[in-house]
Amino acid sequence: MTTNGGFEPVSCTPVFCGIVPPHILDHLAQHEDQALSDSALRTLQHDSAARTRRRITAVRTVAAAVTAPAAPDSAPHRTIYDAGHGTDLPGTEVRAEGSEPGQDATVNRAYAGLGATFELYLKAYERNSIDGDGLPLNASVHYDVNYDNAFWNGEQMVFGDGDGVIFTDFTSSVDVIGHELTHGVTQYTANLEYYGQSGALNESVSDVFGSLIKQYSLGQTADQADWLIGEGLLAPGVHGVALRSMKAPGTAYDDPRLGKDPQPATMADYVKTNRDNGGVHINSGIPNHAFYLLATALGGNAWEKAGQIWYDVLTGGELQATAKFADFAKLTVAAAKARYNEGEETEAVLKAWSQVGVHTA
Ligand SMILES: [Zn+2]
Repeated sequence: MTTNGGFEPVSCTPVFCGIVPPHILDHLAQHEDQALSDSALRTLQHDSAARTRRRITAVRTVAAAVTAPAAPDSAPHRTIYDAGHGTDLPGTEVRAEGSEPGQDATVNRAYAGLGATFELYLKAYERNSIDGDGLPLNASVHYDVNYDNAFWNGEQMVFGDGDGVIFTDFTSSVDVIGHELTHGVTQYTANLEYYGQSGALNESVSDVFGSLIKQYSLGQTADQADWLIGEGLLAPGVHGVALRSMKAPGTAYDDPRLGKDPQPATMADYVKTNRDNGGVHINSGIPNHAFYLLATALGGNAWEKAGQIWYDVLTGGELQATAKFADFAKLTVAAAKARYNEGEETEAVLKAWSQVGVHTA
């Protein structure tokens, strides 16, 4: 762990990366409905305990490992476990690679989501699993009681069932599964520090590839995609469509129990805060929106050119763990030139960053 100016930036993946940000859980925890606030409080207390535990436990991280391209016939190695509403991980094995779907839809969705994530990384970027070296993909479902989150703990995926009032089952959005597993990819590559702008880039990279995994699995072009993160996760009656919108940051929800989506779309509205690790789930709206603008300007399948540029930066070895938005943006310009020369792709990258107010010169 490095120290920097008095605070200790926590790296995301060796600690804890939940899909539901603390600002939402804080809001819920203050709600007058006891059952709702209890679920949120339990989740918050658990999440903070998990953070502390993970910080004490040394977890292997491989920085900027340059991996060989995967063989096209590489296959995932998935195992799904049932935590049985407890917190001991991983729980009882309920589905192994290649076995038929069982009765439990949650188990089957987790299995399919891990598969969809493996598929995008393999087919689009020749990456063999999260670490680029065939890492087995393990997930536990039915974690804890009314647990309002899903997370990657540095080694495996964990899914709660939600409280049923605000959140449904956390396996219900494939982009959430892709988001969390992409924290693993970042852990094994650029290992962006989970604080401030590098933390917001870490979050944004997970949103970008989470959305691309959904788009790839549905065969959607950039124009057809919803560009939402966590669509289907909010229970009926909640005023909102998802946890975040890359197309229109700040518009995903506005609900008396959840509060209002605080994401900015441009640097003009950048949020300075010490909460949420310096706003990692808030200011990620800015690079998210830049990616959306690029992908829709280029048209076609977003995982092809736009996704390839982002992937090249994430895995290229030049992205520093403490990178700021402008550092990342400059590397995307260089990556676009390296792959597509000085053509429309590079122009579109420059324009997208300029539209969100991030300087590339
Ligand atoms: Zn995340």
